[in-house]
Amino acid sequence: MIIEPKIRGFICTTAHPVGCATNVQRQIDHVVVKGAIPSGRKRVLVLGCSTGYGLASRIVTTFGSDADTVGVSFERPPAENKTASAGWYNNRAFEQRAKAAGRVAITVEGDAFSDAIKAEVVEAIKANLGQVDLIVYSVASPVRTDPVDGVTYRSAIKPYGSAVTSKTLNTGTGEVSEISVEPATEEEAASTVKVMGGEDWELWIKALSQAGVLADGFQSLNYTYLGSELTWPIYHKGTLGKAKADLDRAAAAIRAQFGDQAAHVVALKAVVTQASSAIPVVPLYGTLLIKVMDEMGIGEGTIEQIDRLFRVKLQDIALDEAARIRVDDWELSPTVQAELKKRWAELTTETLPALADLPKYREEFLKLFGFGLGGVDYTADVDPQVVPAA
Ligand code: NAD
Repeated sequence: MIIEPKIRGFICTTAHPVGCATNVQRQIDHVVVKGAIPSGRKRVLVLGCSTGYGLASRIVTTFGSDADTVGVSFERPPAENKTASAGWYNNRAFEQRAKAAGRVAITVEGDAFSDAIKAEVVEAIKANLGQVDLIVYSVASPVRTDPVDGVTYRSAIKPYGSAVTSKTLNTGTGEVSEISVEPATEEEAASTVKVMGGEDWELWIKALSQAGVLADGFQSLNYTYLGSELTWPIYHKGTLGKAKADLDRAAAAIRAQFGDQAAHVVALKAVVTQASSAIPVVPLYGTLLIKVMDEMGIGEGTIEQIDRLFRVKLQDIALDEAARIRVDDWELSPTVQAELKKRWAELTTETLPALADLPKYREEFLKLFGFGLGGVDYTADVDPQVVPAA
């Protein structure tokens, strides 16, 4: 079949197997060209391994530090005339390339929040890695069924306390308008913490510990976004920010039990991913951020951020006052933020093309699903069930 992007709101319902494989290869090449990353951590579990920051983490540890990995993600497999999720293609492309490089790469596809998948992963670790010495938690989901009470919680990405009015962007039409978002109820805020807070991270560490598959001196990382005043009302001070604050609580609890190295929250930069494109206001901020950081020569995408995390920040760990590792330092630098604030005030539908980079944002979004990559023949008839090897 000929596979084209089908965009519905902020998701694309199709994905291109050859394009996704090309996107995975492009990220591997980025790491390999920069050379080896010294690390003693060679047995890695990546939760949320198929796209965005999790995929980049799996690629950087495997191809930068020769790590063997078990990955977990939630996917839709392909059917005869239906494409798989982009993550399914990414997982297959990653496995082929990791194995060709002599590395172990096992992927478990299913609900990371469930006890059944935790048990399956424990068995996969025992059979293939023995133990793990690094766990990267990069799951982003709108829904979680609590394995203890069986209740399904849904996140609500809303302000907390009072309504927020902000500029926003329709990334399809390029129109800048104002939106008002009503504040979350207490129940919505609590549900968001249940889904995106630190509870599942703690449950993973508990399950791995009880099964005896955590190596002595293990490290675990969980990714957060703090952002600036421009996004605080909808993010940091909203329901998602409450959930992210709960990561700091969980990190402290894990450290209290397993030692200072055992849990770090890592603050990362805003990049275009499936999860971030669903958050109001963030895509508009993202189009500005891309332009401003590119103009300053410090633009970074997903793989560049995670490469810098492992290549630089984890080599000699410095923590902020809340014990987090900061890789959002360039985004939040006073120069970048001053320029963003100036441009934010001037943003309208008419000024957007000069102030921000919507075309690049759209390109990055399409690449998440394997579209718009150089060297891929999108007019070719492809089998949606086959991912090309390197
Ligand atoms: P993403 O949507 O690209 O990736 C999410 C991953 O979670 C995918 O692999 C998906 O399959 C997996 N997943 C979702 N539900 C699952 C489930 N029930 N079971 C197993 N796997 C599941 O998201 P992302 O933007 O890379 O986000 C990862 C983390 O990074 C999040 O904690 C996010 O808050 C954080 N972060 C993102 C940004 C950003 O701008 N994108 C910035 C800073 C921090």
